[in-house]
Amino acid sequence: YTGKTGFELITEKIKKYKVHEFQQIPIIVKESTSVYDAISTMFLEDVGTLFVVNENTYLTGILSRKDLLRASIGQKDLNAIAVHIIMTRMPNITVCRKDDLLLDVANKLINKQIDGLPVVKDTENGLLVIGRVTKTTITRAFVELTNEKAI
Ligand code: ADP
Repeated sequence: YTGKTGFELITEKIKKYKVHEFQQIPIIVKESTSVYDAISTMFLEDVGTLFVVNENTYLTGILSRKDLLRASIGQKDLNAIAVHIIMTRMPNITVCRKDDLLLDVANKLINKQIDGLPVVKDTENGLLVIGRVTKTTITRAFVELTNEKAI
């Protein structure tokens, strides 16, 4: 018996969870993608956040559901407007890396009041998007806590 309280054991487990164990596949669109096609992609891929990359595949922006709703209001032709006009752009994008603690990402989601963020890989020329962490990812990790057997 370790003498640890249940609280300490759970805290220990949570602090072991890394981004790469839970990250999901990122859904990516190009800057030239129309608002119409971005909305279609969101439905087809069943995600709430899209990442936008430039022609060299580096991260340049992020699109939420409300970004696309806002752009759609009073807009006649959603094919005529490209997502790079309406996206939230670099450097104002909150990112994480595969070795980050999932708990630190959860704190970012709360503090920045966002639904998700990209997992990125740093390169000399920019950030490559390799994954996605969302509120759902955090919920899955929460459920996982109860699946693990006590030692
Ligand atoms: P919604 O806008 O649908 O409620 P979010 O809360 O995720 O979804 O997004 C709120 C705003 O923050 C949007 O304008 C979106 O572009 C922006 N945003 C979303 N994720 C990030 C992020 N990781 N970094 C910076 N801005 C973000």
